Amino acid sequence: FDESFEVLVIGSGFAGLSAAIEARLAGRSVLVIEKMALPGGNSALSGGLIAVANAPLLARDGIADSPDLLAEDMFKAGHGLNHPDLVRAAAAGSLEAFLWCRDFLGVVFAGSLHHGGGHSVPRIYSPENCSGSVILQALLVKCRELGIPIRLQTALEAFILDGDGRVAGAEVRAGHIFPQAQSGTPRRIGATRGVVLASGGYCQDIEFRKIHDPGLAGALETTNHPGATAEALVSALKIGATPVHLSWIQMGPWTSRDEVGWGVSTMFSVLVGIPHGIMIDASTGKRFVNELADRLSRSREMVAAGRDPMLIVGGRAARQYPNLAQGLKRGAIRRYDTLEALAQDQSIDFPALEATLRHFNLSLRDGVDDEFGRPLAAHERFPIEAPYHLVRLRPKIHYCNGGIQIDAGARALDIASHRPIPGLYAAGEVTGGVHGACRLGGMAITECIVFGRTAGVNASRAKD
Ligand code: ADP
Repeated sequence: FDESFEVLVIGSGFAGLSAAIEARLAGRSVLVIEKMALPGGNSALSGGLIAVANAPLLARDGIADSPDLLAEDMFKAGHGLNHPDLVRAAAAGSLEAFLWCRDFLGVVFAGSLHHGGGHSVPRIYSPENCSGSVILQALLVKCRELGIPIRLQTALEAFILDGDGRVAGAEVRAGHIFPQAQSGTPRRIGATRGVVLASGGYCQDIEFRKIHDPGLAGALETTNHPGATAEALVSALKIGATPVHLSWIQMGPWTSRDEVGWGVSTMFSVLVGIPHGIMIDASTGKRFVNELADRLSRSREMVAAGRDPMLIVGGRAARQYPNLAQGLKRGAIRRYDTLEALAQDQSIDFPALEATLRHFNLSLRDGVDDEFGRPLAAHERFPIEAPYHLVRLRPKIHYCNGGIQIDAGARALDIASHRPIPGLYAAGEVTGGVHGACRLGGMAITECIVFGRTAGVNASRAKD
């Protein structure tokens, strides 16, 4: 080896940095490698939402929740494909993951909970600036305090096994310039206790994506950072890791066709638009789905034959979004003083749209959605009134539910023996099984922190 550490972490998103911090706190020497020029991957771009069973704020509001209820919601959205031990570990660990972010990392969260699609109750915390970047910054500060080096532009090429089949390190390229294949200098880095793979998903990997879901062939739009490609996952498959649910690639049902990638309107739609507004099909002026259904159900309905999905939100709700002005300026969110002006501008049949809004506002008053069974919780009753805000929606490729198989201890499992691959741990989007067919909003970060920390702890213990 050119150099050696006790624990080597691949990837500097939430999963990797959580693992690195725990390994360091356990007294181990740790190195994080990251192939891109900036740390954070998709974690940095995300909305920073954390789903929590038994959220402290929920208790304040007198609403009952439990890890079992969160697990039930996950199985329902996941079509029961989820691996039960992972679901239970994620749900049971969610509160601790949130408290770790708030109390140990010092992240400041908004004072109200968000009700995400597919969740039975409002249980999602969001950072005050509605972005994962604050969580990333807090993790980076902690890494600095603990003296954890994060080596950028250093890409994993292959795992190195010792004579007993144990993962003993990695071949990397230092000075790598993504996406130039084989750029940089080859180096061999040893890991005497364990390697944690936390390299994220493959939404940007057109070839890999196409194999697993031919419907996603071609240069389709995605919310992901450019480095979300599959080569690190493939390196794990080459040494016998088990692929799980690779075909289940999730579309985000809240992205805008009027801006590139994630943009500034997505968190508007997620946090205020969908909970308080309605999604209509502009070709009919009517609602077409329970806006609070899981992502898979909504995305499928949105791309169903000829739909032209749009989100309409009232002024009172819209004003709650801190980055509203920016969204309006970019044209990703549009504002109209009257419904008629909105209908005319977007070529929507005005009487049909007016009838849709009137009916929905009555449903809000009565607390019952007789059309699509959307939960209309008490705190959501903002009627949709002028000024009207509009986002023209188009689902984009967002998240890989699948990846390599781990057990609840974040140990990567061998495809033949079903036993842990000695020395290999994994966490975050590179793993599969937690979400099955559909991931619930807020569960990615929860999963990264729960299994990332577990991976760091267990990799530190290995060989003791
Ligand atoms: P998660 O949410 O699971 O933590 P992220 O996408 O936030 O995933 O972070 C994964 C990180 O891993 C990204 O920053 C990505 O650039 C990095 N990564 C992906 N492949 C490699 C590789 N081959 N070598 C080093 N880092 C990688």
